[in-house]
Amino acid sequence: MLETARRYRRDGISPVKTVRDLLSAIEVEPYNAFISYDEEGALLVAEKAERAIEKGSEEPLLGLPIAVKDNICTKDLPTTCASNILADFAPTYDAYVIERLKVRGAVIIGKTNLDEFAMGSTTTTSCKGPTKNPWDITRTPGGSSGGSAAAVAAGLCAGALGSDTGGSVRMPASFCGITGLKPTYGTVSRYGLVAFASSLDQIGPMTRTARDAAVLFDAIRGHDPQDSTSLVEGYAPLSLNGHDLTGVRIGVPRAFFGEGLAHDVERSVRYAQGVFEELGATIVEVELPHLAYGVAVYYIICTAEASSNLARYDGVRYGYRAGAATLIDTYLNTRTQGFNAEVKRRIMLGTYVLSAGYYDQYYRKASQVRSLIVKDFAGAFEHCDMLLGPTTPCTAFGLGEMLDDPLSLYLLDIYTIPANLAGLPAISIPCGFGDTGLPCGLQLMAPALREDLLLGASIAFQDVTNFHQVRP
Ligand code: GLN
Repeated sequence: MLETARRYRRDGISPVKTVRDLLSAIEVEPYNAFISYDEEGALLVAEKAERAIEKGSEEPLLGLPIAVKDNICTKDLPTTCASNILADFAPTYDAYVIERLKVRGAVIIGKTNLDEFAMGSTTTTSCKGPTKNPWDITRTPGGSSGGSAAAVAAGLCAGALGSDTGGSVRMPASFCGITGLKPTYGTVSRYGLVAFASSLDQIGPMTRTARDAAVLFDAIRGHDPQDSTSLVEGYAPLSLNGHDLTGVRIGVPRAFFGEGLAHDVERSVRYAQGVFEELGATIVEVELPHLAYGVAVYYIICTAEASSNLARYDGVRYGYRAGAATLIDTYLNTRTQGFNAEVKRRIMLGTYVLSAGYYDQYYRKASQVRSLIVKDFAGAFEHCDMLLGPTTPCTAFGLGEMLDDPLSLYLLDIYTIPANLAGLPAISIPCGFGDTGLPCGLQLMAPALREDLLLGASIAFQDVTNFHQVRP
């Protein structure tokens, strides 16, 4: 992003030409990263930006082509959630984050592919077909924001927005070798983000570099009265300078390096740990005793919330409606035909864990363990300023792999889920390459509202490494 902004000014590159070239590339892109794009709208904004830049405007976002995950509402443009049930849905309003980007003159270049309703880790459960990883098109880009990650990695946009409920920004960032930030819960308005699990969902930037992530995050964060969970204050100022890591204590949770972590990912993460030590940080070992329960807790809470949030797609209020003779058959046919198998599985699981006889056993219990995980982090942050570990247990795997094994897929979220359960900020940055030459991701986590620390440390890391500059 910053590089594109610089080229517009320093080299006199035309935003209109840049956007036009990208639209042509998107039309024929082989990754299926995009679901739709708005040529006319994008060019119109690019023209305005070009004039403003000619007049000397220094606004960094002017004319920058930004891709947006297709579960974020864009006025009068399709917002499908990659689901047949919203195939023809075009919102009458912009999400808060889109308004923010438009005010700054950014170009919404297109809407990107995702797992249906952001439920998944592969971007293969989309009703629009799978997205392919630009590093190897036989492999998954990760998910659910796989379209945004692929678009950034392939250079089809300057930056992108994704949503992260249990890792959907960080995991595809890790698989595609880019930077992805899951902000503190409440710092980015969810107004206009199609709800999956409201207590966990958060929109985040996906970019090539941590500096770009800081610029994009700064543009979309802030208090929004339209979201009752939006934080009013506490936003730390962000800097584009690397954070001085002298004396900064980085906690390495033992549980993050246990069974199931691929040795090539571990090697890269340990290398990164060494880089941070060279930069002056002190490594301390910490415990997160309840980490092992994270996945179970998450899949109870997120399905419970999803079952409630997705009740609105009934064929009556809006979206797809199946033909039927009676009202009850309209509901049944609409939902059977409109949702894919994974979404239906989650609605059923969620309905079950909330049902009268099982609420105490599942939902209440999960909420209690969630509190313990929150306490684990508070305890860990008494001994350190940040946490470091892998983003995912492995690198990108084959497109068809594990699809018939939802439990194994759920386990891939083990390292990313805790930050969502605790509402904490977390970032994934490229930290090396695995045995098959595919990118590995490093995850850093910080106390609430300390994105400045995460981004500052990532910038410092990227100033002395070049993993983020290698292109597929
Ligand atoms: N992979 C996780 C899931 O399937 C995370 C999804 C997300 O963050 N949107 O729920």
